[in-house]
Amino acid sequence: MEEAFMQRSVTCGELRAKDEGKEVVLNGWVHRNRDHGALHFINLRDRYGITQVVVDDDASESLEKMARSLKMEYCIAVKGIVRRRPDEMINPDMETGEVEVKAEEIEILSECATLPFMIEDENSAREDLRLKYRFLDLRTKGMQNRIRLRHEVVKAIREFFYKTDFYEIETPTLVKSTPEGARDFLVPSRIYPGKFFALPQSPQLYKQILMVSGFDKYFQIARCYRDEDPRGDRQLEFTQLDIEMSFVKRDDVLLLIENLFNYVFKSVMNIDLPAHFRRLSYQEAMEKYGSDKPDLRFGLEIGDASSFASKSTFNAFTETLKSGGFVRYIVAPKTEGHDYTRKYLAELESAAKIYGAHGLAWMKVENGTINGGVSKFFAGLEKEVLEETGAKDGDVILIVAHNDFKKCANSLGAVRNRLGADLNLIKPGFEFCWIIDFPLFEYNEDEGHWEAAHHMFSMPQAEYIDTMEEDPGRVKGDLYDLVLNGYELASGSIRIHDIELQKRVFRICNFPDDVAQERFGFLLDCFKYGPPPHGGIAPGIDRLCMILAGESSIKEVIAFPKNTAALSPMDDSPSFVEQKQLDELHLAIVEKKKDE
Ligand code: ASP
Repeated sequence: MEEAFMQRSVTCGELRAKDEGKEVVLNGWVHRNRDHGALHFINLRDRYGITQVVVDDDASESLEKMARSLKMEYCIAVKGIVRRRPDEMINPDMETGEVEVKAEEIEILSECATLPFMIEDENSAREDLRLKYRFLDLRTKGMQNRIRLRHEVVKAIREFFYKTDFYEIETPTLVKSTPEGARDFLVPSRIYPGKFFALPQSPQLYKQILMVSGFDKYFQIARCYRDEDPRGDRQLEFTQLDIEMSFVKRDDVLLLIENLFNYVFKSVMNIDLPAHFRRLSYQEAMEKYGSDKPDLRFGLEIGDASSFASKSTFNAFTETLKSGGFVRYIVAPKTEGHDYTRKYLAELESAAKIYGAHGLAWMKVENGTINGGVSKFFAGLEKEVLEETGAKDGDVILIVAHNDFKKCANSLGAVRNRLGADLNLIKPGFEFCWIIDFPLFEYNEDEGHWEAAHHMFSMPQAEYIDTMEEDPGRVKGDLYDLVLNGYELASGSIRIHDIELQKRVFRICNFPDDVAQERFGFLLDCFKYGPPPHGGIAPGIDRLCMILAGESSIKEVIAFPKNTAALSPMDDSPSFVEQKQLDELHLAIVEKKKDE
């Protein structure tokens, strides 16, 4: 026989004035217990809300004693009668605020140890303490709401795909280790000593193979793993909505995603998005916003300073331009209550330097002319500078010179983002855009060879195919990124489905035929059997939920994330294993040498 307990007849979120007089049983946690002498007010909480329970002054001695013994976060059952609160006691901030439950019987279902922090959103606990006691942190209203939001997002995604003829197909999580950009997590095979599976960095190859098998519309809410050093807001494992389709061109994929996000935003947030999202080429995004993930909630476009910089007497500018480099500017606008002090300009310069700028030159616009900073090098050019930049009194013109376009652009992009935030220029809301026409290859300076900018399975645009090898840096790919509020939300591409073309891309990326066959042979073999043209994309679910929740860390929308040091303080993983387990796997731990 199971142990009997008073099982709930209603949740803590559902009682209203119309329920007056009903006898109910509530189960939940003691959120607050206010003791007014003979009178006790207990706020009882569950996932659905909070209900006020009253132990009245006419309560029996044993009930009163019980009420007094209740501590925070005890899990209890309460039987009682619903009654309307007197008018002056109605709490409009509580959904159940019109009523309270007069307790007749209370049962302690379990006690709670001393709390490491209060179950409140604004608890001041350090992140590691929150993560060590994640089960308590998850009880806070904020976490409860965000986990619900995430559930609703995933539910809406599934609804959308089921309605549009997609199959949801699982791909394996023990896969062949294939270089896909990041480092693989390896799983040793016990049965085949010395051999390893990898955890998938994404289901990329499997979803492409599914296309060859004829499942022309596929999606999966897929867990992906990348063994990267802890940096910024990264997690070792993350969730993406993985999508692949056959017989499609780029615009079919973009349209599907626009429809999907329209559906999800409407169902989850009741927000109407534009039917189509703005498109920017990679080049345009870099030129205007200094980023391939521009935040379009504010303007502040970057411009080309070469017309006036070339006539200046400032060597850093003229020499850069002579050697084929770039001199670009952004105008920091006059803003009420904001001074462009030297200290602030130095902060902007530090932001620019992170992206490779050698410095951030400035000139202030005062009394209809330029002043301070590098303005002395622009004698006689004042009018031209003002006309070209459109800068007005109180504005500051900020300039970066660099031989490398990307470094020049990204440095000003970082300044733009700082200005957007510091000057409160960011409009509330959601600004989506597509970035298209990305370069297919990037040069890896450290390793001295070309590599894929996205991944090696992406299709070069037709006009570059014949002469791809001559100058890989020029080749544009059929690649697209979806950007939301300055975050890269999804990446995707039309894929290569031709063995020879795939091998040429492998070769450019430093995978000669024999190595490519060893690593990706299964894909190349599969492509011998009638592969369809296909393409796909993969939006990140963690990031999407983070943005929707108005948070700045994905940890806030993941039930059990790792901390910033890539550890789990709750279960203390990763952890050592027993020697016997290692022996079974034919693994030995080699002590790190001192200088490693
Ligand atoms: N597999 C890719 C990624 O994880 C997405 C895609 O190309 O569909 O970024």
